[in-house]
Amino acid sequence: MIRTIDEIDVSKQRVLTRVDFNVPLNDAGAITDDTRIRESLPTIDSITSRGGIAILMSHLGRPKGQPTPKYSLRPVGEYLASMRRRGRVLFADDCVGTEAQTVVGLAQPGDVVLLENLRFHDAEEKNDDAFASSLASLGTVYCNDAFGTAHRAHASTAGIASHFDTVCAGLLMQKELKWLGDALREPQRPLVSVMGGSKISGKIDVISALLDSCNSILIGGGMMFTFFKAMGYEVGSSLVEEDKLELAKQLIATAKEKGVELLLPTDTIIAEAFSNDAQHRTCSVTEIPQGWMGLDIGPETSEAFANRIVESGTVVWNGPMGVFEMSNFESGTRRVAEAMVLATKNGTITIVGGGDSAAAMAQFGFQTSVTHVSTGGGASLEFLEGRTLPGVEALNR
Ligand code: AMP
Repeated sequence: MIRTIDEIDVSKQRVLTRVDFNVPLNDAGAITDDTRIRESLPTIDSITSRGGIAILMSHLGRPKGQPTPKYSLRPVGEYLASMRRRGRVLFADDCVGTEAQTVVGLAQPGDVVLLENLRFHDAEEKNDDAFASSLASLGTVYCNDAFGTAHRAHASTAGIASHFDTVCAGLLMQKELKWLGDALREPQRPLVSVMGGSKISGKIDVISALLDSCNSILIGGGMMFTFFKAMGYEVGSSLVEEDKLELAKQLIATAKEKGVELLLPTDTIIAEAFSNDAQHRTCSVTEIPQGWMGLDIGPETSEAFANRIVESGTVVWNGPMGVFEMSNFESGTRRVAEAMVLATKNGTITIVGGGDSAAAMAQFGFQTSVTHVSTGGGASLEFLEGRTLPGVEALNR
């Protein structure tokens, strides 16, 4: 059973909380997207408003185990302070040792302490127990609200939990587990999965797992061409993973055996080069000329996918339908996103896996118009594969 922060009496407790403050920064060190900070506020407020001290720890970028000024969390602390109306935000220049102990000692109930980047110590990613123990000594309760790193067994996400009697999930973590978990455990049917993105290789395990639970799987994105090549079609210079042709055939056969509808595109938008300025046109997926590459699903496919989405009880979407970063090849992804929004209005549970599909939802301004947009790309894929995430398992008592 996993308890959530709201169920814990945090009054006068020092709640050591793993958050995901791995925010994008520009060259001047300014935060260009504060979504991750905003998403952590409910958990922080839950602690401080009830007289607890929120001690926050996070990683930022890849400093490779060395203190690196450009990856300092200090600007994030300043930003967080500007967002909070009550209580102080103290910053500790190191996440362990005397510096951290001293700053934590200065904090009063209702305050927040932000510790410096965990990855300034290589012991973090090694899940080193002595390091986990030093971190743990700063708090009396452990809370994990960083779903995006829950698939990693690091000191702050995995090893640390055994040092606490009381462990719990933050409100963001709880939300992720609820929506992604319910989608597979007790889905409102039909359960439809929309898969896209560049390659099958990163998504084989999730497609295999979804074949056990879904009614339909819609395939778009670059990965469709590996299926088409496996089916004997000419795909021009579209993206193909030659070493995954057998696997694509197997997935088609397994879907048939299990009675799962595998819906592949019928048309595609092809271009002469991988560029927004390239000549482009729509063609049937069986008629891609040599030298042309498919960079999006076509309008007929978009309509078919949109209809399936709108008719479904639950939709899980992972991966763009085309090269949505280029305006000439975004229409398939946009149509799927619009169908997700419409389906949500009609009572469908709509879930967007993190990563590029979440970026697409943000690009179209639809983040709040679906049931749930996951904050974790890799973590949401692993969760949907049915794998145990170390950071989630550590909270299970
Ligand atoms: P992934 O990281 O595997 O989810 O892939 C996401 C990327 O796939 C995005 O950056 C898209 O631009 C890219 N993508 C989608 N469709 C295609 C395509 N038909 N050809 C090449 N890249 C694609």
